[in-house]
Amino acid sequence: MRTNLLDFTLPALTDWFSGLGEKPFRAKQVFRWVHQRGESDFDAMTDLAKSLREKLKEVAQVRAPAILNEHRSADGTVKWLFDVGVGNGVETVFIPEDDRGTLCVSSQVGCALDCGFCSTGRQGFNRDLTVAEILAQLWVANRRLMEMAKEGLPYRLEAASEGLTPKPVTNVVMMGMGEPLNNFENVVAAMSVMLDDHGYGLSRRRVTLSTSGVVPMIPKLAERLPVALAVSLHAPDDELRSKLMPVNRAYPIEELLAACRAYLAVAPRDFITFEYILLAGVNDSVNQARALAKLLSTIPSKVNLIPFNPFPDSGYGRPAQEGVLRFRDILVEAGFVATIRKTRGDDIDAACGQLAGQVVNRMKPKVIEFREVA
Ligand code: SAH
Ligand code: SF4
Repeated sequence: MRTNLLDFTLPALTDWFSGLGEKPFRAKQVFRWVHQRGESDFDAMTDLAKSLREKLKEVAQVRAPAILNEHRSADGTVKWLFDVGVGNGVETVFIPEDDRGTLCVSSQVGCALDCGFCSTGRQGFNRDLTVAEILAQLWVANRRLMEMAKEGLPYRLEAASEGLTPKPVTNVVMMGMGEPLNNFENVVAAMSVMLDDHGYGLSRRRVTLSTSGVVPMIPKLAERLPVALAVSLHAPDDELRSKLMPVNRAYPIEELLAACRAYLAVAPRDFITFEYILLAGVNDSVNQARALAKLLSTIPSKVNLIPFNPFPDSGYGRPAQEGVLRFRDILVEAGFVATIRKTRGDDIDAACGQLAGQVVNRMKPKVIEFREVA
């Protein structure tokens, strides 16, 4: 099979080009064609020598997974299901807002971490996505949205940084299917293309990685590619958090917060975002809001409350709106910036935690494999 150029960071592409006997600046040209212009046809890369174009056509390809499904919500949200082979599919969601366009990107087929409130987790785990499969979500989304904008649909185009072609996606959140820190190398490579000035030119503030708290990988992210960090907390104490999120049995809250504090030294913002799902009657009481405020008083933080998004047989419910507001007010009174995440793409099951994709050959969840637990 021909080499897929979506699998390469710029340094890796440069090495690969040198193997073809080509100069580094040729790699840069091709990289810009692919990521900045969304081009996949080597013949259209008009500033390359004809001989190089012919060579590339023989040995290389820009190959994105096929779109199995594209759903457009009444509120402008778009969800794609991508075919990642042998019956597996992963989902990607675009959320347009007034001042930005955010793409929610998947990192794995399913997830091994088995959080009961998460539709992806319920599906089990099949495999990690490749660099190309992660990047293709952004590459395809930009292309499709540009086509839709041409057809007159209300997708605005904006340049992520100066001198770049305006594109619909200005922000990326690694909050789709999977635990990004469990597919570390591929996620870091893909995000580095998102940040590369010759790639998508997104600033580190515009790329957010969300983790359920795979603690040992947080310092590694700090070292390799310190993008904005969001942490899924969901409970103010270990007992409840371990019930909701098995990963907490391996990495309890204090260890997680210590890793977050250390991350702040390199983070692109001076706070960590904590996500907190509100599950009716489980973690949404006044006392739990107070306990959360106390817990987070030791770390510069912002709290993003996510009213639970239902899916069939989840066994959980969404609190009534006044409960959500009460929870937020307690945090605000305690001095926190606390926001309530708007549910987008409700009508197409594109909200947080509803991404199910298609996961086959699933394996049993193996949460505690990272570390021996006494
Ligand atoms: N695995 C990573 C990133 C993907 S999940 C993580 O857990 O952080 C992205 C966010 O959606 C997480 O905060 C997750 O807890 C939340 N989420 C999962 N299921 C949800 C649901 N049913 N309703 C609302 N949010 C949910
Ligand atoms: Fe995995 Fe995140 Fe879902 Fe938990 S919430 S199962 S870590 S994707």
